[in-house]
This record gives sequence, structure tokens and C-alpha cells, in this order.
Amino acid sequence: MAKILIIEDEEPIRELVKLNLEMAGYETLVAADGQEGLTLIESHDIDLIILDIMLPKLDGYELMPTINKKNIPTIMLTAKDGLMDKVKGLEMGADDYITKPFEAIELLARVKSVLRRTGKEKANITFDDIEIFLDQRKVLKGGQEVELTYKEFSLLQILVENRGVAMSREKLLEIVWGYDFPGNTRTVDMHIQRLRNKLGTDRIKTIYKVGYRLEA
Ligand code: CA
Repeated sequence: MAKILIIEDEEPIRELVKLNLEMAGYETLVAADGQEGLTLIESHDIDLIILDIMLPKLDGYELMPTINKKNIPTIMLTAKDGLMDKVKGLEMGADDYITKPFEAIELLARVKSVLRRTGKEKANITFDDIEIFLDQRKVLKGGQEVELTYKEFSLLQILVENRGVAMSREKLLEIVWGYDFPGNTRTVDMHIQRLRNKLGTDRIKTIYKVGYRLEA
């Protein structure tokens, strides 16, 4: 998952943003002033910055040239009546802004959208040349999207979520197809075969007399 730096001097806001991003699975770094932020920008590999404008030591605008040079996507935090701040922030290269106070759901939606737009989004799981994005139900192989049917993706998702664990055919049938009887497990075998072919991988192992396991 993406690593996000939060630069905000107001502790309650900083902690709230951090908490929400971490609950959504992102890795976070925090800075309470512009100078601390600058140090972290220069010493870490950061995928996105949540940047407050009014900050002690160095303000948000003063950080923008460094952020632009490192090409890090940025969402600015602006005050409710700060129209000029928004305009100036966007002109200086910010990718988006959020007006304080904001709801967690808006923050997460904007973070997701900026990461997607700027190609900084990280796959939930990567192996060989395959990247799997569970939220978007998307799979890339060698950077190219693989066309999976709804059931194929659902099956892959269960295997990813339980990677390293042997999943019985009956269990897979029940979760993916919603059958609560142990018939028709051939359906599972057929879909697994198609998944293997489409992904061009031998990491979906057959477990003799049981079912399948993803080794990734
Ligand atoms: Ca502030």
C-alpha cells in the first residue's frame, strides 16, 4: 500500500487523518511543521503528501518546489474560506485540496482518486509480473490489464486473501458460487484452469484430494 506523509501542525487533525488512512491500510508518516516535513520528504520514498498550508517554520507553499521536484502527488488542506489558498495551491502544483473540516470518507475518496490518477497506487499483492488490486477488482500482467470474469476474479480474491492456505474445492464453491452443497466441484477446477491460463502462472497449486493454494 502507498506511503502517505501528513504535514499538519494541529495535532487533532493530524491524528485523525493518520488514523483514517491507517484504517484504510495506508502506511503513514507525520510531521508537525514544515521543516520536519521537508526532512521526511528528502529522506523517505513517499507516494502522497497531505499538506496543510499554514505551518510553523516553513509553510505549505514553501514546500511545494521541493515536492514538485520530487514529483510527489499532493493534497492540500485548506481553511473553509480560503478560496485564494485553493487557487494558489493548485497553481503551485497540488493535485487536489480538501477543505477543513472534512469527513473521513471524503479524505479517503480524494486520496484514492489522486493515487489512481498519478499512478502511485500500489497493488495489494504482486508476484512475478502480476499485480492484483482487490478494491478495483483489477489484475495487471506485465502492466497490461487481464480480463477476468466476475467469478474468476472472486476466486482469485479468495485465494489471495488466504494465500499460503489450502482451500478445499467445497469451500471455494461455497464462497464464490454460494452453493452450500458439495456437488459440482468441477466448476471450481474449470475456473482455476482458466485463471492459470489467463495469468500465465503456476503459483496456484493443486493440493491433492483437497483443492488449491496460492503460493505467492
Ligand atoms: Ca495549520
